[in-house]
Amino acid sequence: MIEDLKKLKVGRIETNIDLKKYSTYKVGGIGKVLVIPDNEKCLLTLIDYIKKNKIKYKILGNGSNLIFSDFDGILIKLDKFDYLTINDTIVTVGAGYSLQKLAIKVSKLGLSGLEFATGIPGTVGGAVYMNAGAYKTDMGYIVSEVKVLDKNLEIKKIYNKDINYHYRDSIFQHDEYVILEAKIVLKKGSKDEIMDIIENRRQRRLMSQPLEYPSAGSVFRNPEGDFAGRLIEDIGYKGKKIGGAMVSDKHANFIINYDNATSDDIINLINEIKKEVKEKYKIDLKCEQEIVRWYYEN
Ligand SMILES: Cc1cc2nc3c(=O)[nH]c(=O)nc-3n(C[C@H](O)[C@H](O)[C@H](O)COP(=O)(O)OP(=O)(O)OC[C@H]3O[C@@H](n4cnc5c(N)ncnc54)[C@H](O)[C@@H]3O)c2cc1C
Repeated sequence: MIEDLKKLKVGRIETNIDLKKYSTYKVGGIGKVLVIPDNEKCLLTLIDYIKKNKIKYKILGNGSNLIFSDFDGILIKLDKFDYLTINDTIVTVGAGYSLQKLAIKVSKLGLSGLEFATGIPGTVGGAVYMNAGAYKTDMGYIVSEVKVLDKNLEIKKIYNKDINYHYRDSIFQHDEYVILEAKIVLKKGSKDEIMDIIENRRQRRLMSQPLEYPSAGSVFRNPEGDFAGRLIEDIGYKGKKIGGAMVSDKHANFIINYDNATSDDIINLINEIKKEVKEKYKIDLKCEQEIVRWYYEN
């Protein structure tokens, strides 16, 4: 497979990568192949090869919502899709661009709408896919269209009304798309007011989230009318440990890697919480984070 990929000139190829380096949880085993396509043409060639050979693949953003164990397919990272153009209030940005960097950049220009994103350590592609959000707003409010590569290897645009954005949900989680680029529409605002909001929220996050430890942010989606953190606190799980994973005692909806956790430690803790919450409250907590543990059989 590696020789084929080299011949096809699909971009930078790395083998036997340490997945810990690609996840904000800092857990994971070995990833067999990682490809960083140089451009859209390379990506098309790569996906075409993947489909013809029935190989499993996964698009990797910044790994800030993933729990990795071993991965024997092809990981694709869109680092080269990191372009940005700003035309008045309209932002066109590549999927590999850092969401935090984008949020700070536009805010400093007095553009409002991405203040919520300065504490979200993902890429634009990951945020569009997840419908990342905070403070009662999310990507669904500002994304006007998304350029994608679909499963038939066609490049097309999907407009906001067809993305079906809901709380941490989008069409991209239910069908096969590679997100290439997003168009985001912001509003003109006061730079000072925008920067004050960002600073205020930064302080709140520092106070309420265990940012000194590796994590992948909130573990569970909030159930309708309630907070996952409250339920986890109520079952007495703040500070609960399995192996090197621990429910944060600062924020019960965060699991932290406090001491060389494995992905199994985290997954076991997640499953235990789900079981306890179900038993006590008859509520099915839904995990917001994604477990990536494919092993390609060959
Ligand atoms: C400290 C901390 C705080 C956080 N706070 C928040 C928060 O306030 N709100 C929030 O919503 N999230 C939060 N998160 C979670 C996370 O940052 C977001 O879900 C983010 O959007 C994930 O982006 P990513 O690039 O890291 O995606 P990844 O974790 O790499 O991938 C997530 C999913 O998106 C898919 N994907 C990524 N890029 C593409 C692409 N180009 N095309 C197709 N699919 C793609 C991946 O295949 C995967 O299925 C936090 C995480 C941390 C560590």
